[in-house]
Amino acid sequence: MLQLGAGFIGCIIMEALAARGVTLTVVEMGDRMVPRMMTPTAGAMIKQWVEGKGVAVHCNTAITAVAQKDGALAVKLGTGGELTADLVICAAGVRPNIEFLAGSGISMERGIRVDNAMRTSVADIYAAGDVTEALGFHTGKPELNAIQPNAVDQARIAAHNMAGGAAVSGGSLAINVLDTLGLISTSFGQWQGVPKEQGGAGVELVDPARNGYLSLQFKDDVLIGATSIGWTEHVGALRGLVQTQAPLGPWKERLLADPTQFMAAYLATAQKAA
Ligand SMILES: Cc1cc2nc3c(=O)[nH]c(=O)nc-3n(C[C@H](O)[C@H](O)[C@H](O)COP(=O)(O)OP(=O)(O)OC[C@H]3O[C@@H](n4cnc5c(N)ncnc54)[C@H](O)[C@@H]3O)c2cc1C
Repeated sequence: MLQLGAGFIGCIIMEALAARGVTLTVVEMGDRMVPRMMTPTAGAMIKQWVEGKGVAVHCNTAITAVAQKDGALAVKLGTGGELTADLVICAAGVRPNIEFLAGSGISMERGIRVDNAMRTSVADIYAAGDVTEALGFHTGKPELNAIQPNAVDQARIAAHNMAGGAAVSGGSLAINVLDTLGLISTSFGQWQGVPKEQGGAGVELVDPARNGYLSLQFKDDVLIGATSIGWTEHVGALRGLVQTQAPLGPWKERLLADPTQFMAAYLATAQKAA
């Protein structure tokens, strides 16, 4: 079998197929696996792990055509080659189903545009969940962050405001936890970091012996994003630090020196503040 896409949902499908003993090839046009969730180093580590489990992975490769050929499917690759498969699975991501709103006057781009009260551009019409391009937690700009915690938060705010309340969202946040054939990875917030000129700083730790990886990204003395592989203990503390925006004070330098101390930093700063 051949699978197009090694994003979050592609990895879930891959897991199910591998568990059933399917001979699988994954083709991803990005330069790494899970490119919208993982740093280059982390995406490469996941690829290595997955290949070690017997799945063939081609990155930097787009599928340009699929055609019937001699009773099988011939899959043309942008890199010039061709692969043969009995089944092709398309896991190219999710897209808001908003076509039915055409002509409604509701402002839309990739999703329905809402403000931080979940109001659309049309009075008395609210939207929440995957269908929205809600304002981002860090950027304050429209973002698609199609995950359940954002959907729940937005639905609560929309319902409250539709009933006459005045609830406001803190902004949608990327929160991802993924299991690729037994390797657990996470990413939170602005995991790509921000430029140094904007107060950005970061640290990356690779521990090949335990397939471990940690990247912490700061803006001034606040943790704005994180990526991990192989860390399951207390990993929610990373989300806690990102979401509370707790000033880290001296903990920033300690984390830059040893990012594994994130739980201690959380207890000393974010939890204390809460
Ligand atoms: C494979 C997969 C794995 C995921 N894993 C995670 C995860 O681990 N953690 C996480 O936080 N999130 C995960 N998500 C995302 C999560 O499922 C969504 O964020 C959440 O379901 C969003 O809720 P929603 O109500 O906005 O949209 P949905 O749950 O998609 O509900 C929308 C509903 O509206 C219906 N609908 C669409 N158009 C119309 C129409 N025109 N008329 C009538 N009905 C319509 C749809 O059929 C659907 O039932 C995953 C998603 C997928 C696809």
